[in-house]
Formats: sequence, structure tokens, C-alpha cells
Amino acid sequence: MKVIRTVYGIQNQKKKLHLHPLGFVPTMGALHEGHISLVNNATGECPLVVVSIYVNPTQFNDTEDLKNYPRTLSADLGKLGTVLRENDMVFTPDDKEIYPAADNRVFHFGNLDNVMEALYRPGHFNGVAKVVSRLFDIVQPDVAFFGLKDFQQIAVIRDLVRQKRYNVRIAGIPIVREPDGLAMSSRNRLLEPEIRKEAPVIYKTLSVASALIKDHDISYIKNFVTKTIEKSAGLSVEYFEIVADTQFIPVKTKKELKNGCRYYGCIAVKAGKIRLIDNIEFPLV
Ligand code: AMP
Repeated sequence: MKVIRTVYGIQNQKKKLHLHPLGFVPTMGALHEGHISLVNNATGECPLVVVSIYVNPTQFNDTEDLKNYPRTLSADLGKLGTVLRENDMVFTPDDKEIYPAADNRVFHFGNLDNVMEALYRPGHFNGVAKVVSRLFDIVQPDVAFFGLKDFQQIAVIRDLVRQKRYNVRIAGIPIVREPDGLAMSSRNRLLEPEIRKEAPVIYKTLSVASALIKDHDISYIKNFVTKTIEKSAGLSVEYFEIVADTQFIPVKTKKELKNGCRYYGCIAVKAGKIRLIDNIEFPLV
């Protein structure tokens, strides 16, 4: 693989190789098996793959979170070295490469701006849209791979692609979990040990909740999820909503569930100082 720091370097290498489809995996580094799964999906279908590692300041609504975000470039390159091929590229730009001038663009994503992550992380998706559109302009991929863990983010990216008419297919890749069920995340390593022990209750509770929908209404399930998780010391639920992957309007009663839609229970939990998100599909009953 080639490690490239500049926009010029990426474009030069692309021109030389001219291999398609070109797969792209944007990341913020501190790579784990979830990221590697995206990369493996990309190499599985694309003869040329670009993985970017860039901690994007514009998507952090919390300056402490940005400051503490893990940065492990040499370990990341070691991991990528085992899964990327000779021609594949790792793009490790600095801020000047991504934002050579102030980026004051404002994006609108309709209802996606009014629910879940958008409410708790104001400005987050605007920053995601800035960096992803910039990266798409630089890399010009045919397929871009995103994790379903960031469930609302994928919907935002799909809407960005639609609005900007990018010729990119967005592939959504299943969540990779730790053996105890906790969704892998770069932030997991920041969890205090006592809280890390409690954190698997998030996925366990989602799994139980997804079976409860057979016999219970939404308000019961929402109450169950919050109460069960908050029994664990250090965990508090920011939101838990059930939404259709197309609409993102929180479902209030089972009567609203429509055949032909797929529903997901999406959660954000404050685990000590660290914020975790997860989701699970709720089968239609
Ligand atoms: P990040 O480095 O956190 O910005 O994540 C980069 C990409 O990896 C995003 O598309 C995430 O959705 C995806 N990702 C993060 N964690 C996981 C996971 N546990 N399973 C699958 N994909 C993931």
C-alpha cells in the first residue's frame, strides 16, 4: 500500500493506475475490526481502494472530545498493511489539505436535522457533510463504504449524494461487535474500566427490546430500554428511538408501523464521559 499525504498525490496515483471500480473507506483512525471489515468489503469488490485517516475537526461539537480523540497512526498503518494490496492507498491529509480555505458551507438534510444525533450533537452532520463532500471531490470513488453503526450518518451521506449528484454508490456494512456484544468504536478505549464492564448491557438490552415488540407497544419498550440500561452505574440514555431507515420519524405507537419498511431501534448512551451509539433492527410484527 502507499501512504499519501496530499491531494495531488492521490490524484496522481489514480491517474497512473486507472483501476475501477475505485472503493473508498473514510475513517478517523484508531482503527479496529469494524473499520477493517469496511476495508475488507472494499477490497473484495474493488481492484483499487483508498482508505482515509483524518480526524475532522468540523464534525466535533465538543472540543474535549476532539482533544481526547485517540490518534494511533503507526498502529493504524500496521493494521492496514495486513489487508491492503500493493496499489491501494492510505490518505493521511493534514487540515490544510482538507480545508485550504475556510469552509462555510451550510447543508440541510430535512427531517434528519431534527432527530436523534442531530439534536444531541448540533452541527455534527454539517461537519460530516463538509469533510465527506471534500473527500469525495478528492478521491472521486465509485463506491464508498460506511458502517451501519452510524445509522443516521449513512442516511445523511445518501442525502448528500442525492443533493450533490455524486456518482457514488454508498455501501452500508454491518456492525462489528466485541465478543461481549459492545459495538466496536474508537472511543471504547477511552471508557473507564468499571464502565467498560457495564457497557455490554446496551446491546443486550436492545436485543431483548427487539423481541418485546411482538407483545408490547413502543412506549413500554422505550421505558424498558432506558430503565434497564440506567440500572448500570455510570450509564445514562440520551435517546432511544425506533425509526424507519427511510424516514427517521420516531415511531410512537405500533399502529404507525408500515409493511415494506425496515425499523431500527437507535440509541445514544453516556458512559461516564464517553458517548456511545448503537442500533438494532426491530422486526415487523
Ligand atoms: P470513524 O473512524 O468512527 O469515523 O468510523 C469510520 C467508519 O467506520 C464509519 O463509516 C463508521 O460507521 C464505521 N464503523 C465504526 N465502528 C464500526 C463498527 N463497530 N462496525 C462497523 N463499522 C464501523
